[in-house]
Amino acid sequence: MAEQETNCIFCKIIRNEEPSEKIYEDDDVTCIKDINPASTHHYLILSNKHICNAKTLKPEDSDLFDKIVATVDIISEKLNLNPASTRTGFHWPPFNTVNHLHLHVISPIEKMTIIKSVMFKSNSYWFVSTDYVKSRLEKSKL
Ligand SMILES: [Zn+2]
Ligand SMILES: [Zn+2]
Repeated sequence: MAEQETNCIFCKIIRNEEPSEKIYEDDDVTCIKDINPASTHHYLILSNKHICNAKTLKPEDSDLFDKIVATVDIISEKLNLNPASTRTGFHWPPFNTVNHLHLHVISPIEKMTIIKSVMFKSNSYWFVSTDYVKSRLEKSKL
């Protein structure tokens, strides 16, 4: 069992102690529906291990991070999402809502309301891309 926190809502969901709609799960990641969808499709890919946020990822979490990103393809294929109109990203501290690492997958972008499209704006101070997090992780390895 991955390292978890007793009172964290996402850890509880992973342990099936809280209700959720799981789209996909394996030993490393769990994908659930966002309870406040920003578009037709809105999913969260969680690391089964409790990591606070994208900023606290450590070099040793690199494989897990790649696994989270690869899960986007699994979900997209499973649910027939068009990659061209799908947005993914992490909330960046202090703008993260739940303190457990989760990647947002939102599709189609065109159906997002103005407010949501600001909330999940690509590469803003508050919502960053997987590439940005990846390059930061690579740098921290040096
Ligand atoms: Zn947690
Ligand atoms: Zn979030």
